[in-house]
Amino acid sequence: MYSRLLDIARAIEGNIIQGRPDIEITGVSLNSRRSGHGDVFFALKGDRHDGHDFVPEALRNGALAAVVSRPVSLPQGLGERGLILVRDVKKALQMLARWHRQRFKLHLVGVTGSVGKTTTKDLTATCLEARFQTLKTEGNYNNEIGVPLTLLRLDHRYEACVVEMAMRNLGEIEELASIALPTCGIIVNVEPVHLENLGSMERIAQAKCELFKYVDERGFVAINGDNPLLVEAAEKYAVKKVRFGWGANCDDRLLDVNSSSEETRIKASLAGQAAEFCLPFPGSHLAYNVIAAAGVAVRLGVDLADIQSKIRSFSPSSRRLNIKTGLGGITIIDDCYNANPVSMKAGLEVLSDVAAGRYRVAVLGDMYELGSYEVQGHREVGYKAAELGVERLVTVGELARHIGEAAKEAGLDKERILHFSDKELAIAYLKSDLPAEAVVLIKASRGMHMEDIVQELEV
Ligand code: ATP
Ligand code: MG
Repeated sequence: MYSRLLDIARAIEGNIIQGRPDIEITGVSLNSRRSGHGDVFFALKGDRHDGHDFVPEALRNGALAAVVSRPVSLPQGLGERGLILVRDVKKALQMLARWHRQRFKLHLVGVTGSVGKTTTKDLTATCLEARFQTLKTEGNYNNEIGVPLTLLRLDHRYEACVVEMAMRNLGEIEELASIALPTCGIIVNVEPVHLENLGSMERIAQAKCELFKYVDERGFVAINGDNPLLVEAAEKYAVKKVRFGWGANCDDRLLDVNSSSEETRIKASLAGQAAEFCLPFPGSHLAYNVIAAAGVAVRLGVDLADIQSKIRSFSPSSRRLNIKTGLGGITIIDDCYNANPVSMKAGLEVLSDVAAGRYRVAVLGDMYELGSYEVQGHREVGYKAAELGVERLVTVGELARHIGEAAKEAGLDKERILHFSDKELAIAYLKSDLPAEAVVLIKASRGMHMEDIVQELEV
């Protein structure tokens, strides 16, 4: 990011209260310890810290200016540095990101949905890379801070950018889209996640569709055509829709999906062309993500053959369906990055695909933020475990108890169900009682830190 202090001040509607307007800024930082030479430091207020207390440190570390919402006094020797006064530092960061994004003409794909955003974002970026120099959201930086930071990394090299956008409430996707100004979008799905805040599935669908409000009118949004609530909520927007899914009403159709322990094969029809994709790991539930990503890439001009080869070499991000070897030769499916009922049920399917007749162990912990769906959501996972007939169902945490109870009611032998109130007890059990051929799925909400279990079982 190369700009003069004056241009930045204008973009964020701030006043330069110190420093020369022609100071050349080359980057943005939010962490004073990591501020580098040429940066402008944004003094954000967090839960525990106020960035204003760290302005001197950021400047000492090389930042040439800071954006603040109240004047800060600088120690001697830093008097040359710039200070821009704004009303709201976070808003200023967002304004700068939007202004910066508008400097570039490129394909900007906004990806939202209840489950599978990161995977779809990574798949889309991988496909686009076949033809375009592509920037994407790093990891899961998908919120009001992460989206601006991603956009601020844009420079003239990039021809495409894929931005993950998350929400917990109405209005949040609209805000992110107003900053990112997508040229096209993907709504992966609408599922009961964050029901606590939104209250109903209709409202979740509406919230995701806020993406449409800022998508370029010449662009399009790929939406999950199998979800009638989403299709209906999208109706009221004029921007072109591309529907993907199994339904006969879809533009990009899934025709057959087959998962083994090594790969997932997907037969589809994409923009009228027959296409087969192969993901190099098990995960039939990811068929939607694949077809959404491929559908966007093909419409942006990437060759189908290149998309197929990119998908064939795709690898999932850390702690999402990572297959590892554990103590005594067991196989671990590390999917503990996060969970909700949809992804947990999908994880159980993957467990069965990977195990293919071997001894299946599902180690499942609490899922948070389900609101009124909390008990039901856990119970649905229990029904799924019973339906698949896993050899061991190990639940960890108070909410996860509902998983075991529902599994028992649905007919899973009670000898196969174990409940532990904490991870240490579960680890002790898992270390002592698993046969070498066991395949162990480990999954729960982020806050459960199930990686502690993975670490103990990994070799
Ligand atoms: P977050 O809200 O944490 O950012 P996300 O929407 O980015 O999540 P991912 O990180 O891609 O989602 O995936 C989270 C979990 O959901 C993983 O366990 C993954 O396997 C599973 N998952 C991904 N896509 C789907 C899908 N289409 N259907 C069901 N489960 C999915
Ligand atoms: Mg994510």
